[in-house]
Amino acid sequence: MGVLIEVDWLVVGAGLSGATFAERAANVAGARVLVVERREHIGGNAFDANDEYGVRIHRFGAHIFHTSSVKVWDYLSRFTAWLPYVHRVVAEVDGVSLPVPVNLTTVLALVPGNAGERLRERLIKAHGAGSSVSVLTLIEHPDPDLRALGELVYEKIFLGYTMKQWGRRPEEIDRSITGRVPIIVSHDDRYFNDQFQGIPADGYTAMVDRMLRHPNVAIETGVDYREIVDQVKFRRMLFTGQVDELFEGKHGWLPYRSLQFENIRIHVDRVLQTAVKNFPGAEPFTRMIEHAHFSPMRRASTLITAEYPQRYVRGMNEPYYPLLDRESRQLYRKYAEEAQRIGDRVVLAGRLGKYRYLDMDQAVAHSLAIFENHVLRSSNSYPSARLRTGLDLWA
Ligand SMILES: Cc1cc2nc3c(=O)[nH]c(=O)nc-3n(C[C@H](O)[C@H](O)[C@H](O)COP(=O)(O)OP(=O)(O)OC[C@H]3O[C@@H](n4cnc5c(N)ncnc54)[C@H](O)[C@@H]3O)c2cc1C
Repeated sequence: MGVLIEVDWLVVGAGLSGATFAERAANVAGARVLVVERREHIGGNAFDANDEYGVRIHRFGAHIFHTSSVKVWDYLSRFTAWLPYVHRVVAEVDGVSLPVPVNLTTVLALVPGNAGERLRERLIKAHGAGSSVSVLTLIEHPDPDLRALGELVYEKIFLGYTMKQWGRRPEEIDRSITGRVPIIVSHDDRYFNDQFQGIPADGYTAMVDRMLRHPNVAIETGVDYREIVDQVKFRRMLFTGQVDELFEGKHGWLPYRSLQFENIRIHVDRVLQTAVKNFPGAEPFTRMIEHAHFSPMRRASTLITAEYPQRYVRGMNEPYYPLLDRESRQLYRKYAEEAQRIGDRVVLAGRLGKYRYLDMDQAVAHSLAIFENHVLRSSNSYPSARLRTGLDLWA
């Protein structure tokens, strides 16, 4: 089959990374963009949709937007209003709900009475009120009592969760992941302390839809880019899919972690105290999400989703998290070098293209930077007068 479409940019993936780039390329540079998405919908992992009771469901796990970047917040705010939302999480430990990240309230619940009070004072003295210290730092602490506290927190809250989440012992996991788990030296029980936090008022899917609504942007969902790439004439490609798939696994397949979601319907308005509850114990799931917390309206029915971490099997389930260790980093580097060699043609982006865990604000920030570096500061020109008149070239 011959060429059906001619575009400036072929964007693979309609998640936040692809949508941000496509929006900028079309709106600012007047580029013609084709966005190809393997799933049946746009939005990537941030995809949400209302259930039959009007509760918005985060189909691929709870997604809370939080950022300290004014640039990213202002950018996304062009496409959505925000519902104010402050994320709080509890963990069920020995039948009791305790705040996570672990804070001084959690410490006092784990170690009641005078012993707990003493630990609180020692933590404040050693690290300062309001500071945050990683559980691994505490385990290696010179103060034996704080070391014992570190061990307790590690055993009760961290170890079981981490093993379930990653299918490995924490020592086997890259520090960039374990280091993410802090102990907060205050009673602040907010999960994030970023300047901006919220949930898009009409949902993430509606936000991404508005980003992509432009006469220069065409979207194909339910299509793997490999099925159509021969029919698209493109100058450059932004690739937000799995980088190992881009090169057909020639250096070996990268490891990922997957999830299975189990939905439980209960006909009351709310069941859980917080939107997310962690289960570090013997249960086979890591957390439960109650979606109703993300909508301001009360409904007669609530949906709870339990998350069961799983081994990723190519073609069978979704690659939700890169499984980072020294070996996988080395493997990724080989693919990144390959990509560099064809850098004038293909740019890698997003959590799968970059093989890194990215929060949504980081995904948006990276795509904005790619746009600035590869389009605005490049010699590429898009004859916007011609392009803005319509899609004549697409017919
Ligand atoms: C369970 C879970 C919870 C999360 N919670 C939060 C949170 O609370 N807050 C937060 O900030 N971030 C959260 N994140 C991270 C957030 O999902 C990412 O930041 C965001 O999805 C990154 O967008 P992306 O476009 O890079 O990737 P994706 O959203 O994965 O989009 C990439 C898209 O490319 C498509 N694709 C892949 N290969 C092909 C192909 N061959 N052809 C066509 N299309 C292809 C995929 O189908 C996918 O839709 C969470 C992630 C997970 C997994």
